[in-house]
Amino acid sequence: MITQFRLKKSQQVLNIILLAFFIIFYSYTQAQQSIWQFEYPEKDTIYTDNTSIFFGGNVKKDGKLFIQGENVKIYKTGSFLYQFKTQPKNINSITAQFIIEKDTFSRTFYIFPQKTKLPKAIAKGDVKIVQITPAEAEWLQPGNILTITAEADKNSDLYFFNAKVKLKKISVSNSIATYHGLYKINESDTNNIKLLTGFNILNGNKISFSAPSTLKIKSTSEIILGKTIGNYAYMMYGDGDDRLGGAKMSYLDTGINVQIIGKYNGLYKVALSPNHSAFIPVDHIQIQNTNTEYPESLSANINVTPNSNFDQIKINLDKKLPYSSTTELDGNKLKILIYGATSNTNWITQLENLQSIKNIYYEQTENNVLTININLKTAINWGYDIHYDQNNLIIQVNHAPKSNKLKDLVVGIDAGHGGSNLGANGLSGVLEKDITLQVAMRLEKKLRKLGITTIMTRTTDTTLSMTDRIDYLKSAHPNMVISIHCNSASPLVKGNSTYYRYISFRPLSQYLHSEMLALGLDNYGNIGSFNFGLNGPTQFINALNELAFISNPEEEEKLTNPNFQDKMADAMAKAIKHFFKDFTSEKNN
Ligand SMILES: [Zn+2]
Repeated sequence: MITQFRLKKSQQVLNIILLAFFIIFYSYTQAQQSIWQFEYPEKDTIYTDNTSIFFGGNVKKDGKLFIQGENVKIYKTGSFLYQFKTQPKNINSITAQFIIEKDTFSRTFYIFPQKTKLPKAIAKGDVKIVQITPAEAEWLQPGNILTITAEADKNSDLYFFNAKVKLKKISVSNSIATYHGLYKINESDTNNIKLLTGFNILNGNKISFSAPSTLKIKSTSEIILGKTIGNYAYMMYGDGDDRLGGAKMSYLDTGINVQIIGKYNGLYKVALSPNHSAFIPVDHIQIQNTNTEYPESLSANINVTPNSNFDQIKINLDKKLPYSSTTELDGNKLKILIYGATSNTNWITQLENLQSIKNIYYEQTENNVLTININLKTAINWGYDIHYDQNNLIIQVNHAPKSNKLKDLVVGIDAGHGGSNLGANGLSGVLEKDITLQVAMRLEKKLRKLGITTIMTRTTDTTLSMTDRIDYLKSAHPNMVISIHCNSASPLVKGNSTYYRYISFRPLSQYLHSEMLALGLDNYGNIGSFNFGLNGPTQFINALNELAFISNPEEEEKLTNPNFQDKMADAMAKAIKHFFKDFTSEKNN
């Protein structure tokens, strides 16, 4: 008992000693962390084949930082950035030293060439589908073309689409071959399709195999119809997918009739006309079980009437059809394409006292596509809205502000991110959501001083979704909206960039860009067709201003500097003012 007790006691002592060590070690590393920390590289041992490695992070401002003996610049934010050129194949160690008051901290990083991964051997009888397009198809109708790329042992024979196509061997690496083929689905293909089958010979025996993927084919005699649902349905040109999603063609009102000809990759493929198809995310479509609303219609008369803030075009149809719009810069044209519509319009009534519409005429540009051409009176397109009222397609084309006096201008300001949506961050830990709000508030002040009415999507650190922002802005009817963000990329990338989606809205982004460049920022570009949420609305002129790169320590220093924030706000106010004066000429007054 006593021995046991002693043992227990000594164990307790040991535990206490271990705990004490742990506390000392923990507080030591915590203290080190607040004095200096590396954002990258993330680990002390680095495997890379790159010819340069970045060391970046932040330190207490009053110390000195050396990497490989070189004195590294510490920015006012405390951030630092050091680029080390590696010699691949040699093992390198890099030592960083931070000296503050009497303390010296050091840390060593080890660099090894990346271990190249050998391809996994494929056993005989194994087959791997590398890619099928369209990807993740649930069902397709005849007319669609399928392509496949697969890998298997080089002695395999592979067959595609219920063995209708023998795949071609396009390359061999080690014992593995890549195979490729394509197939156009036709009317006789109506069963569940085994996509990939094959065989190879092992010890004189034939081994057959097949990949588990199957595909359902629906006959074209089965007409599948649906309606758009919700407030944010949209069509895309293709099924492409990147950070910003597929290229958007048009937002659609709710309740619009579409014919669906395939389902894949989370999208419905919809037929718009004999030569046009588009893609709509599945959650924006409800399948209809009746065939009564086939999306075709004759157009009846068109009426154009003036209103207090817009001119309105009303096109009479039998049912709600999909549409898209395009804008032009020269001549200020606006074009609306109505899919499934055939003209039976025998008159267009245009009243004398229209303010934004000069002319309207239509063309039957192809079977089932009715194109409405609108020439504007205004010096620039001030935005437009398309929606349905019953089965009438309504196009509202905004008037220019009442006069060229700044009191008649309403500007929406959107501070990007906020609340739980932090956005990007700088090496010092500064957050994009804070910078965007600080700059937005400064801009608001400056615009108000000029007599401009402002609308803010947020004035505090709150979480707002993109649809929250768009809903709010649409309901507030600003003449223009500027969304403020900070860019982020690899640490040497710098500069201001501004973005627009529709060509008719480009000028605002150009005015902003040139004023930002006048502050001495690098030119990262003026970028169009940009698939960013707040570049999507057509109801007001809009531009995105990516002030500078928060990921670059030099620009991070500028972005956090109150004087420079003020200069950026001034630059934007100046751009807005000049844009407004230039595009509200005497024509509109
Ligand atoms: Zn952002």
